[in-house]
Amino acid sequence: MTDTFDVVIAGGAAMGSSLAYHLAREPGLRVLVVEKDLTYARAATSLSLSGVRQQFSQPLNIRVGLAGVAFLKTAAQTLAVDGEAADVPLTENGYLYLASEAGAEVLRANHETQIAHGAQVALLTPEETQARFPFLDLSGVALASLGLAGEGWFDAYALMQAFRRKARSLGVTYVQDELVEVEREGARVTGVRLASGRRVACGAFVNTAGASGAARIAQGLGAPIPVEARKRCVFVFEAKKLSERFPLLIDPSGVYVRPEGRHYLVGGPAPEPDPDSQDFEVDWPQFEETLWPALAARIPAFEELRLVRAWAGHYDLNTFDHNAIVGRLPGYENTYLAAGFSGHGVQQSPAIGRGLAELILHGGYRTLDLSDFAYERIAAQRPLLERNVI
Ligand SMILES: Cc1cc2nc3c(=O)[nH]c(=O)nc-3n(C[C@H](O)[C@H](O)[C@H](O)COP(=O)(O)OP(=O)(O)OC[C@H]3O[C@@H](n4cnc5c(N)ncnc54)[C@H](O)[C@@H]3O)c2cc1C
Repeated sequence: MTDTFDVVIAGGAAMGSSLAYHLAREPGLRVLVVEKDLTYARAATSLSLSGVRQQFSQPLNIRVGLAGVAFLKTAAQTLAVDGEAADVPLTENGYLYLASEAGAEVLRANHETQIAHGAQVALLTPEETQARFPFLDLSGVALASLGLAGEGWFDAYALMQAFRRKARSLGVTYVQDELVEVEREGARVTGVRLASGRRVACGAFVNTAGASGAARIAQGLGAPIPVEARKRCVFVFEAKKLSERFPLLIDPSGVYVRPEGRHYLVGGPAPEPDPDSQDFEVDWPQFEETLWPALAARIPAFEELRLVRAWAGHYDLNTFDHNAIVGRLPGYENTYLAAGFSGHGVQQSPAIGRGLAELILHGGYRTLDLSDFAYERIAAQRPLLERNVI
């Protein structure tokens, strides 16, 4: 038997569930989310550091970041179900980027762009930075940039579950199954086949299958994407509490750290080599050899710490220009994509889900124009380079 849905979404984590929620606000629309693992144990969304920022170099990423934080601030009510508020806590301690002399010019240029697009960020001299964050050793730092509002971190898993709960309350169907094949007729996807053998006919199809699935589905559609799964490890450690206002700190070495309750989370720059892989093994030596020395040099109090645990997840890295690829697939009338978020996808999920829903329902973006993220730039070899990738 073949079921029919107006929209079928492959991948039901942050991006797929945000889209499902935004579509479900349209009365009567039948939406199916196909998710291969409803525990989400290996979804990037569950393994994310959950930062939200406007300190990007691309205007569109700044605007999407602003929309993301605006959504988070009202998510409790917007995503409430049966009068019960959604629990999506947000900590607005800001990102603090530290730059050496070599990086100061880029920080200044990015700052101009960020201010021009409405971000509340301040450039700080080393002296001003020291006064705000006395626990830092600022050796080698020439300039800093601090988010004053609208930046920090949230709980990505909680946001995804809140989207999902709200979407289901509005009639969206979720099924645990794996999309294995997409059926086409000319310029239309007409249906999908699932690992269980089920066939579902659809009016529109969206690929939000992340690092573990989006590239393979895109290949099957004859529209390959330069997106690879790149392993990133996060380590959790216990150390002295240093400040209520401890920010998400980005060291010039690429090492980043933020507090999480009574612990801290730390990660680092891309390892060398950095292969496309689905391996979830933690790279334990990375902590001892790279992260801890950089941390202790920047924050002497972290010479004493206790490693608690660690995990590995995957960026869906767009190797072409480190930016999202979002929109309708060229050559198709009813097929869409949101992938390649390169380490900043959970904060983008509110604005991307909303935009894609507008594109599917109305044929164009209504609130925020996401056209710069369109697939066409890849074939045209026009990169939308993001200089602030963590
Ligand atoms: C260590 C780490 C730190 C990060 N830090 C941040 C951060 O601070 N801020 C930020 O904004 N972002 C961060 N990110 C990136 C962010 O987590 C991702 O960009 C975002 O979660 C992508 O969401 P998604 O829904 O597109 O993909 P995913 O969360 O990967 O979800 C894709 C889903 O598709 C499903 N799927 C795959 N193939 C199929 C198929 N064939 N059929 C059915 N289902 C399928 C998968 O099971 C999965 O649930 C981080 C990522 C990692 C790994």
